[in-house]
Amino acid sequence: MRKIQTEILVLGGGATGVGVARDLAMRGFKTLLVEKGDLTNGTTGRYHGLLHSGGRYVVKDPQTARECIEENRILRRIMPHCLEDTGGFFVLTPWDDPEYAHHFIEGCQKAGISIEEITIREMLDEEPLLNPRITRCFRVPDASADSFLATDLNVESARQYGAEILRYHQVVRLLTSPALPFSRLSETGTDAPPSSGKEDRCEDSSNVKVIGSICRDLVRDEEVIIYSDLVINASGAWAGQITQTIGISLPIIAGKGTMVAVNHRILNTVVNRCKIPSDGDIIVPAHTVAVVGTTDVRVADPDHYAIEPWEVHLLLEEGDKLVPGLKTMRILRAWAGVRPLYQETQVNDTREVGRAFVLLDHEQHDHVSGLVTITSGKWTTYRKMAQATVDLVCKKLNLNRPCHTHLEPLPSPHKRRYHHLGERLAQVEKEKTSGELVCECELTTLQDVLGAIDTGGAQTIDEIRRDVRLGMGPCQGGFCTYRVAGILHTRKHSRIEETNIAIRDFLQERWKGLRPILWGQQLRQECLDELIYLSLLNADHLPGPTYSHLASINYSLPGETLPPSSFGIGSETLPPDPLISSTKNEVLIPSHPKRAVGSEASPPPTDILVIGAGLAGLTAAWQATRRGLKVHVISRGWGTLYFHAGCVDLMGYYPFHDQVPLSSPIAGLSRLIQDHPRHPYAITGLEVINQALQEFKELCDQSGYPLSGSVDQNFLLPTALGTLRPTCLAPATMINGDMRQSRAGPILIVGFPQFQDFYPALISANLQAQNFLSTDYILDLESLHSRHMVTSRILAQLFEKPEFRAEVSDALHNRIKGTARIAFPAVLGLEHASEVINDLEKRLGVPIFEIPTLPPSLPGWRINQILVKAIESRGGKVENGIQALSAMVDNGRIVSIINEAAARQRSLQASRFILATGGLLGGGLHTDYKGGIQEMIMNLPVIAPGRFSEWLDTEFLSQTGHPVFQSGIKVDEKFQPISEDGLPIYNNLSIIGNILANAQSIRERSLEGIALTTGFIVGKTN
Ligand SMILES: Cc1cc2nc3c(=O)[nH]c(=O)nc-3n(C[C@H](O)[C@H](O)[C@H](O)COP(=O)(O)OP(=O)(O)OC[C@H]3O[C@@H](n4cnc5c(N)ncnc54)[C@H](O)[C@@H]3O)c2cc1C
Repeated sequence: MRKIQTEILVLGGGATGVGVARDLAMRGFKTLLVEKGDLTNGTTGRYHGLLHSGGRYVVKDPQTARECIEENRILRRIMPHCLEDTGGFFVLTPWDDPEYAHHFIEGCQKAGISIEEITIREMLDEEPLLNPRITRCFRVPDASADSFLATDLNVESARQYGAEILRYHQVVRLLTSPALPFSRLSETGTDAPPSSGKEDRCEDSSNVKVIGSICRDLVRDEEVIIYSDLVINASGAWAGQITQTIGISLPIIAGKGTMVAVNHRILNTVVNRCKIPSDGDIIVPAHTVAVVGTTDVRVADPDHYAIEPWEVHLLLEEGDKLVPGLKTMRILRAWAGVRPLYQETQVNDTREVGRAFVLLDHEQHDHVSGLVTITSGKWTTYRKMAQATVDLVCKKLNLNRPCHTHLEPLPSPHKRRYHHLGERLAQVEKEKTSGELVCECELTTLQDVLGAIDTGGAQTIDEIRRDVRLGMGPCQGGFCTYRVAGILHTRKHSRIEETNIAIRDFLQERWKGLRPILWGQQLRQECLDELIYLSLLNADHLPGPTYSHLASINYSLPGETLPPSSFGIGSETLPPDPLISSTKNEVLIPSHPKRAVGSEASPPPTDILVIGAGLAGLTAAWQATRRGLKVHVISRGWGTLYFHAGCVDLMGYYPFHDQVPLSSPIAGLSRLIQDHPRHPYAITGLEVINQALQEFKELCDQSGYPLSGSVDQNFLLPTALGTLRPTCLAPATMINGDMRQSRAGPILIVGFPQFQDFYPALISANLQAQNFLSTDYILDLESLHSRHMVTSRILAQLFEKPEFRAEVSDALHNRIKGTARIAFPAVLGLEHASEVINDLEKRLGVPIFEIPTLPPSLPGWRINQILVKAIESRGGKVENGIQALSAMVDNGRIVSIINEAAARQRSLQASRFILATGGLLGGGLHTDYKGGIQEMIMNLPVIAPGRFSEWLDTEFLSQTGHPVFQSGIKVDEKFQPISEDGLPIYNNLSIIGNILANAQSIRERSLEGIALTTGFIVGKTN
């Protein structure tokens, strides 16, 4: 057991704890701070982000208002770089009591807060999205604050003054002298301080002194004893838990507040409702997003609480009063933190508890010396709380050491002026580092990430996120989790199990804040993220343990608390119960206008109009053109082909949660068809599946891009994480990577330093962990040095040039002795991949293969090209960038599709129609925040998995899959959509691909299989 001696021990690494540590260190105390998680693990990392002017409290809590405005001025001076000077509005909406405005003005004057009333016209000029029905608007000096950065800089400053900060050190209990039964060390069998010999709590505790604490080092999994002269308990909402270890109860209520982030900055000013503080009445612009908050609900345990659906709905409904339309905007994430509310008398509502800070000298309060608790308060007042605490320390120790924290600015690596939104973009443009972006959403560069790893000492990806805002944008880590894991592994040379755990922990950490708000575009985004991590990277098969004790705690399942009575439980505010309701909609009335206003005259009718140009739509079109039909394909954008591996996954695992991949898909398919007679494969049947694969192989063969495989076997191909992915058909460019075949000698995995989507060291380490011989190499080529950006497409174009291939093989020659095969990212050519590989193999004399990496997928693009050419060569037409809007219906038949092209509407007629819009992932299905699911073009009935709360599993990498991804359209044996009574809805419409119900294609690893086989049969026969 480690033992540490210090002068002052600070418990808790939130704003208050680090503020205290800095102040202590600046006043010359030997200071040690322990934090059970990462810094800002508590409320400081889960707050609303507002530097209060105090305006919010002027009527109800004038003391807090005065503290806020004083500190507001000081923090603007000492840490402008942690603040954005957004300014603030207090606005009177039609829902607010006009009388309150008078009290507000009076309160601001008394507290010394400058306010200016502006006209509604001026307000709307500045913030055009605000509700025009607002009647009064007051400007106050609110601002937006970055607590992550402020905490870091406080720590940096504290360290400069000699303080030591230990993260992932959890206080297990306080130590006392004499030992109390709660804190006796004898249980640990070591160094007990002199014992009182009493078994019960000391009746007379007047001589009891706190002398330190026992902590658990969560990284090394060992206990540490820390002795100190004085302990400062700055553990926020946990303060009572800590004092309870020596029997002192503190009346601290944990008041949970939930917030949601809108995916863009709908406002540039902090906006408060002008009323007594209540739920959902503030919107704060924070970096690239706007945060709506908060609720205030008492919870029993500051570590375990749920984000309730009613809270999210309340925030949307209330936010909508400030910014009309907010509730239909894309919501990125929800999170919640707990307020430490100190209340000695009983209260019914947590909003009744004052926000002023509380400083307790336990010598005075409980006759236990050596312990001071500082709690409650606001982030805005953290510095003042720290100053008061250290003043008390000085007084207790009879020292005269004045505070300087209000004078000395926090360290600033780059600048000392207010932060502004365009800063990162300006930096990236100035330094031309766009090619080094690890997180495109938040413009986080490779240098930023390396800085967080090297100087910040980040242990987890979540710490890197906190430091550089990585993974906080719309894709919530979809792309950058993989990249940062690769960088972390390469940089730290960690054990691969640690990297794998960091990946899982971070994916789960992002998931926990997404789950409460997954509908609409964000749910679609999540489908893509699932495709990347399950289907493309097979991250649920990473070697090593799945659990980490450094992971952040999941939110509990909702259902614990009810909405406040003021928030009506009506259909307007709460999600409807049975979401199957949409399936009951048998009356098929298109939701869009049937007649397109001002539409152009139609071109001559086609035989088949296919909507959607993914693998399903293109396969159907290809087959139909082979029958001599006139086919037209329209599509809004790219299909899944561009995102996935460029193979045909037929069925990877059965049952889906089985950890062992199917060696033969056909065996799994037979069982699946028996178990799930409504699955799309059950409708196509095995024979059609086999035929579809054969004919598709023939097409690719004839196109000079051969595919290998059959329904009888799955290849096991390495992924860009180094896991093995079962797939049925794979291009010849990947077949040498089949890991079922052992070869003498290691695989050499080759990457490029400028290419951010492929990490050889990570792949190699995971292959080694699965007992495969493997090494890695980064190929630093002269010809790439001058490029600011190296994408997969650029590399593919370069590989098509013989001189580039010569440069690659020259550079590799010395590295390949004893190598059995060489792997590259899947960038070996665009249209001539087979020739590129043959040439490289000739030059290097070693088999070569491609490993698919992050989207966009070049192997997918190659298949897309083959199909488009096949369609066009037989007179078919494929048009991209065309959005189908609605259908014209007549007498049980679809007559035409209204679509939008180049800012006008037109209608396309055909004899038959095929809908291949790809379900939730493709955008063919849309979900909303009330739990509705709609088919977007024809308003077809959708099979949905039940209640909104049942849509998603608690784990991102769920073993059983997320039920909502099974949503889709029910069809008959001819793939015609059917109503609940089993009758076809339109007899000239077929449904194919991933919009079909009753499959979980990503979980099953059947993404292309379902698309190809259903597209094949419908194109061939319907
Ligand atoms: C929903 C919400 C929104 C808010 N918005 C704002 C706002 O916009 N502006 C504002 O000024 N204020 C805001 N606040 C208040 C503000 O966030 C808090 O007052 C402030 O962050 C508290 O900081 P703290 O350091 O006291 O507590 P915390 O940040 O909670 O720090 C306590 C630390 O102690 C650690 N700890 C606990 N137990 C142990 C243990 N056994 N061993 C070691 N460490 C331990 C925890 O992990 C935690 O990191 C908000 C609060 C909430 C809940």
